Amino acid sequence: MIIPPRLRRVKKCERCELLFSYNEMSCTHCKGLSEQQVVALKQKYADEHEGNANLGKLFFIIAMLLLLALFIINSG
Ligand SMILES: [Zn+2]
Repeated sequence: MIIPPRLRRVKKCERCELLFSYNEMSCTHCKGLSEQQVVALKQKYADEHEGNANLGKLFFIIAMLLLLALFIINSG
């Protein structure tokens, strides 16, 4: 009998809001950190997320400019 591999179960830490394995007793991200360090950790992840969003916007603008350039070339 073949048992299908289970999906990795994760839970969200209420303290640092990061995901960690269900098998862990406590969060692997903020375990042993002080409140101040947890705040810094959350800020770090928030900054990274914002950076990715800005990068996405930049690619969107470049794509739009390329489309505009193609349109100008084709219409000319
Ligand atoms: Zn945590």
